[in-house]
Amino acid sequence: MRVVCLSKRKRIFHQLHTHLPPILLVSFSISSNSLSSSLPFYPTLHPCLIEIANMLERMDERLDPVAVIEEFEALTRDAGRIQRETLQKILEENGETEYLRRWRLNGRTDPDTFKACIPLVSHKDLEPYIQCIADGKNPSVLTGKPITTISLSSGTTHGKPKFVPFNDELMESTMQIFKTSFAFRNREYPIGNGKALQFIYSSKQFKTKGGLTAGTATTNVYRNAQFKKTMKVMQTPCCSPDEVIFGPDFHQSLYCHLLCGLIFRDEVQVVSSTFAHGIVHAFRTFEQVWEELVTDIREGSLSSRITVPSIRTAIARLLKPDPELADSIYSKCAGLSNWYGLIQELFPNTKYIYGIMTGSMEPYLKKLRHYAGELPLLSADYGSSEGWIGANVNPKLPPELATFAVLPDIGYFEFIPLKEDISEHEQERPCKLSAEPQPVGLTEVEVGEEYEIILTNFAGLYRYRLGDVVKVKGFYNSTPELQFICRRNLLLTINIDKNTEKDLQLAVEAAAKLLAEEKLEVVDFTSRVDFSTEPGHYVIFWEISGDPRAEILQECCNCLDRSFIDAGYVSSRKVNTIGPLELRIVKRGTFHKILDHYVGLGAAVSQFKTPRCVGPTNSTVLQILSLNGVKSYFSTAF
Ligand code: AMP
Repeated sequence: MRVVCLSKRKRIFHQLHTHLPPILLVSFSISSNSLSSSLPFYPTLHPCLIEIANMLERMDERLDPVAVIEEFEALTRDAGRIQRETLQKILEENGETEYLRRWRLNGRTDPDTFKACIPLVSHKDLEPYIQCIADGKNPSVLTGKPITTISLSSGTTHGKPKFVPFNDELMESTMQIFKTSFAFRNREYPIGNGKALQFIYSSKQFKTKGGLTAGTATTNVYRNAQFKKTMKVMQTPCCSPDEVIFGPDFHQSLYCHLLCGLIFRDEVQVVSSTFAHGIVHAFRTFEQVWEELVTDIREGSLSSRITVPSIRTAIARLLKPDPELADSIYSKCAGLSNWYGLIQELFPNTKYIYGIMTGSMEPYLKKLRHYAGELPLLSADYGSSEGWIGANVNPKLPPELATFAVLPDIGYFEFIPLKEDISEHEQERPCKLSAEPQPVGLTEVEVGEEYEIILTNFAGLYRYRLGDVVKVKGFYNSTPELQFICRRNLLLTINIDKNTEKDLQLAVEAAAKLLAEEKLEVVDFTSRVDFSTEPGHYVIFWEISGDPRAEILQECCNCLDRSFIDAGYVSSRKVNTIGPLELRIVKRGTFHKILDHYVGLGAAVSQFKTPRCVGPTNSTVLQILSLNGVKSYFSTAF
């Protein structure tokens, strides 16, 4: 018998208080310190304790949402104090590193000294230090405990993946965030024992020059034993075997995820992926391959498109001829109208669909809702390869309104206010991206204001500009609830105009309504600034689900141009210091090629976010877009 681990005594006591009669509680309290050691020796003397231990072992297999929520309540009640303590802990653990000694903290750990001594940095500033770790020259240059793993951020915003340090503390905070939002989710949408159809992919880990393990952040998480354990206690183990998740070819992994989901279709309770794009992409693929999947199930043999031997062996263990299941899936699919409600039909016991649906994922919501039918869409948490920030503790809010309550013990957070800067030319729509006042602390932010977020974590990042803009929507106890607005650096700008990813998204949404009237949709989109013409102009690339008439696309193009309401843009367009916006239609499958390109660079499909603005140096993506161009329209709106 494995006696339950007592290291989490607080949680266990809570469980006891809520589940056991007082008499057993007394007995347990007396013996709890020595329970694990005494049990094997005195089993007959403590029958009630054996019973308790067995019960706790069973409980340990499940997460106790009440206890998790209580812990979160306690943490957020005095977020200011927790922040000071967290900073103190980070600086005590790492104060002797070369990086922190350089800034002469001299052992001080208070926020004022910290802010006065340590500069705000971006990834570029830390790159030499991180490289030094990766090269094995000094693995402790940023942290007291040497860094042994490196994460690669998705790299979809800058064109190539960046290295960031990863360690056990980041892994722990990842699990803490997962458990916190699960506890809140489970309160509203309880799930029983079952499985999750998770479209997760782990790219290969490799060794850096200095021998450190490196992989995308999601890979480092999925490959950690903690991940599987957490999924198990959250009653959502993945349908697919590890060989599928860790397969070398994501097209084959995706096919097999779908197949495993169908095999376990009655057990599936949650359909998820890290980013919503992953779910939409999976079911778009399903539309193409569903008959092949049905054949595999009918015959109990795997399609020849799967060539990776380890995946074939793993799937062979699950796949048996099941004509009844094949018939049922066939008739469900054949009965659908334009695939509406596909997920619900295929997986009838699904309680919700889960993944990051905010920010650059919003454009996929329409399609996701279409596949989901009546199933609720629950937006996942907010974080990055550099560290987690907040949990979605209001799962009932629609994704468009989702907020993230900051966990005050996983890092030290600062916020640069992006105050309105209403200049003479910009009165129609104030620009929030020009001012740069001093950062404020976590509990000093104001509701309704926008901020750039600054992160200090347990993995060697100090006052690190994450590059994200967030808006404070309210407070949970004393910790702010943030709404993700956009990446700060994703600006379409030619002269005095400034348009963010969000502005682009709103413009595309407005123009896509014209397509929707024709029963067509924008499959994906991106943009660039074209300076090769005089004056320069914005180019918006669209992949469309069909072939609309030219007049419709011309209208869409005009609508896009009019929808950028930034005052700098509008005034420049009026005086032609910015040229007419260009809408360029690309071939079907172009964005798939872009995804393949990033995956080839080492990005994980799990972390993939279509770059919404392609910089002039991103020549491969520019080339893919240019080679796949079908037609161009220029705006006549001004
Ligand atoms: P990565 O580079 O793959 O680590 O991606 C991290 C970035 O993804 C963050 O800095 C955000 O810009 C974006 N992101 C992560 N979580 C969310 C979320 N919940 N909503 C919107 N954007 C997010």
